[in-house]
Amino acid sequence: MRTPFPAPTPSTIPIANRDEVYPVHRIYAIGRNYADHAKEMGMNPEKGTPLFFTKPATALVETGATIPYPKATEDLHHEVELVAALGPCPDQFTLDNAQGAIYGYAVGIDLTRRDIQWEAKKAGLPWDQAKGFDRSAPITSIHTAENVGHPTQGRIWMDVNGEPRQEGNITQMMWTIPEIIVELDKLYDLRAGDLIFTGTPVGVGPLLPGDAVTGGVEGVDTIALTIAP
Ligand code: MN
Repeated sequence: MRTPFPAPTPSTIPIANRDEVYPVHRIYAIGRNYADHAKEMGMNPEKGTPLFFTKPATALVETGATIPYPKATEDLHHEVELVAALGPCPDQFTLDNAQGAIYGYAVGIDLTRRDIQWEAKKAGLPWDQAKGFDRSAPITSIHTAENVGHPTQGRIWMDVNGEPRQEGNITQMMWTIPEIIVELDKLYDLRAGDLIFTGTPVGVGPLLPGDAVTGGVEGVDTIALTIAP
């Protein structure tokens, strides 16, 4: 195929213990999926209607990376999240077949330009510029469900410069992963290569130039990221 300039490189993620990479299609994310985090954001902590947003697949950054402090913000926030990675999908999802389409899991950070998000919320505008920016989705390798099972409980945490910031358990998710998949399926044609960020526990906060973060989900993996000085 001839292109007038070099075609973008497809986004991929290493697969742990495999000589293969996971080809990424889209990145979906759910907001306010832990009641205590919804409360700290000043939102109603009830299950209600799920709130979804997306990030471009090009936002992914490998764990261990050092990234520049993002442009256009003075209030970059960390949100540690369990990520589900879809494999081949059925024509229609149900609560019974959703788990079977999950190829594996990873730990991700939903980096957020919180100042832009507050402005968007106040003005009733989309969250796009707050969420879908370059290098906004650091992520670990994918761990296959064959290897790690389908985690439904386990600690989820994030430390900044060794200080505990976020602490929770994935049992606190208001929308379970199969429920999220069924809801997303009503809105989008889900397919293999789609990643789903499943929400963050309480304790989000700012990152500053030079900060080093570590976090993880028990039974899945740990993630590390440094913001350049
Ligand atoms: Mn999030």
